[in-house]
Amino acid sequence: MTDIAGNLQKIKSELPETETVTLIAVSKTKPVEQIIEAYQAGQRDFGENKVQEMAAKYPQLPSDIRWHQIGHLQTNKVKYIAPFVHLIHSVDSLKLLKEINKRAIQNQRVIQVLLQINIAREDSKFGLSFEQAEELLNSDAVKQLSNVKIVGLMGMATHTDNQEIIESEFRSLKQFYDTLSRKFPGFRYLSMGMSGDYRLAIKNGSNMVRVGSAIFGARNYLK
Ligand SMILES: *Cc1c(COP(=O)(O)O)cnc(C)c1O
Repeated sequence: MTDIAGNLQKIKSELPETETVTLIAVSKTKPVEQIIEAYQAGQRDFGENKVQEMAAKYPQLPSDIRWHQIGHLQTNKVKYIAPFVHLIHSVDSLKLLKEINKRAIQNQRVIQVLLQINIAREDSKFGLSFEQAEELLNSDAVKQLSNVKIVGLMGMATHTDNQEIIESEFRSLKQFYDTLSRKFPGFRYLSMGMSGDYRLAIKNGSNMVRVGSAIFGARNYLK
C-alpha cells in the first residue's frame, strides 16, 4: 500500500522554510479515497489534468479543497470547472482566456490563471514562447478581460535524466518570470517541478510544485 501521509510529510520536510512553496498533490487517475487520505493528512491543494475527472471528484470531496487544472484545457470544457476551479495552470491562447473570462462572469467570480510556457527542447504541442506570452500580456484584448487574472507562469522541463538540461530550462523560465514580475505586479506564482524534478525546480525559484507519483505512487493507466 502507498503511504500517502508519509510521502506528503517527507516532501513537505524538503520544502524551504523561509519562502512559501505551495505543494499541489496531483491526484489524476487516483480514487477519491486516496484524495481523502491526503486531505486528512492536511493537504488542501490538488491537481487534475482532465476536466471530466475533476468535475466528477469535486462534489464528492470537502469544499475547502483548492482545485488546480494543470492539463491542457479545451475551450468547450471551461464551463464544467468555472464554478469552482482555484487556479488554471495551462492557459496558452487568447481564445481560452476569453472563454474563461466569459464563464467567470457567468459564475460571478474572478478566475486566476497561469500562462503555460513551452520551455522544453522536445517538441511540445502546448505552451507559449516567451515572445507570445509577452505579446499576450501586453495586448489590449487581455487588459479588457474583467474576470480573469493572470497571476504567473507554468512550465514543464524536458523529459530527460540530464539534470543540466532540466536546470537550464528552469533557470530560463525563472529569469523570464522575474522580468515579467517587475512589469506585472499581479504575478505571484511560478509553477514548475514534478515528482522527478521538484527539488531542482525549487532550487531554481519555483514557488509551486505539482507532485503526483511521489505522493500517490505510480499511475496505472491500464486499469
Ligand atoms: C501528471 C502531471 C504532473 C505530476 O507528475 P508526477 O511525475 O507524477 O509528479 C505535474 N504536472 C502536470 C502538468 C501533469 O500532467
